[in-house]
Amino acid sequence: MIAISICAVLLLGGAYGIAKVLNGITPVSTPQSDVSSDTELSVPSLESSELDEDRIIYGYEAVFADAVYTGDLVLVNREVATEDKESGLVSIYEHKNDHYKVKDMNVMLLESCMEPLNRMMDDFYAATGIDAIHVLTGYRTKAYQNELYQDNLDNTETLNTPSETAKAGHSEHETGLAIDINIYENGAVSTFDGTGDYAWLVEHCTDYGFLQRYPEDKVDITQFAAEPWHFRYVGVPHAEYMTEQNLVLEEYLELLRKYTYADDHLEITTKDKQCYEVYYVPFDTSVTTGTQQVPVPTDLDYTLSGNNTDGFIVTVHIGTAEDNAADSQISNSSVAEPTP
Ligand SMILES: [Zn+2]
Repeated sequence: MIAISICAVLLLGGAYGIAKVLNGITPVSTPQSDVSSDTELSVPSLESSELDEDRIIYGYEAVFADAVYTGDLVLVNREVATEDKESGLVSIYEHKNDHYKVKDMNVMLLESCMEPLNRMMDDFYAATGIDAIHVLTGYRTKAYQNELYQDNLDNTETLNTPSETAKAGHSEHETGLAIDINIYENGAVSTFDGTGDYAWLVEHCTDYGFLQRYPEDKVDITQFAAEPWHFRYVGVPHAEYMTEQNLVLEEYLELLRKYTYADDHLEITTKDKQCYEVYYVPFDTSVTTGTQQVPVPTDLDYTLSGNNTDGFIVTVHIGTAEDNAADSQISNSSVAEPTP
């Protein structure tokens, strides 16, 4: 009897310990948690959140305020400006493969976009045999964007006509995450309109994390005329979700505000069966010194991107859909067929 009681106590204790791990939700302080209390982000109590089934254990990443202005999901438009990039840019010419062309050695892009761009162009070539895609523009400095803006003003010859060209600081090209392409074939250049064989790129660009940023039916939101040739990198789960739901970046970032850390997270399963959870963490951008704590998973891959205004998007890679399906099958079958 005593032995049985001890066993029961041990089992209960063990079960409690496991439940704590599975619930996984007591935030773990990171070693570099040297943040003074006034800069600390108030993180909602995880005990009350409804993330139990996720079994994700969260800790914190200490992040400086200026990180709000960098990352794959930064919004740059007529209203929201960006600063010049100071690092991470490479010459496309020096990093590209043979299946597309680039205007000259000075066309730059963030290095992190090169691998997906090369893979997309490889696959486009494999599918169509075409190697005529020509990258005309990549990164622009603020000074160069200002030149373009002024030229455009001069050309329109009247200040009453709003310039089509973005003001300095307001072009997505200043992020290093965008390219303009055209077609360079037999010595002649033509506009990329995404039709015919080139429709492949429009249909598949999200598989590589790119999207057409300025669609015709969203001009009222983007404030830019349709530009089928302008591709923006945002990462695969976001590009696929936005395209599937017909959302431009402005709409998507607004939607993500509903998926805060303490609330339900946005779940995305990509075409290649990768599962992601996405959530928004507001950031106190009035605090410009020191770091703030952003909740992130401790045992899963994630990326963190600023939205370029007031917060972060955390994208957690949960695993493959097969893994998750296998897990639920195991638990279902054990319910259906209890062991003798
Ligand atoms: Zn462009």
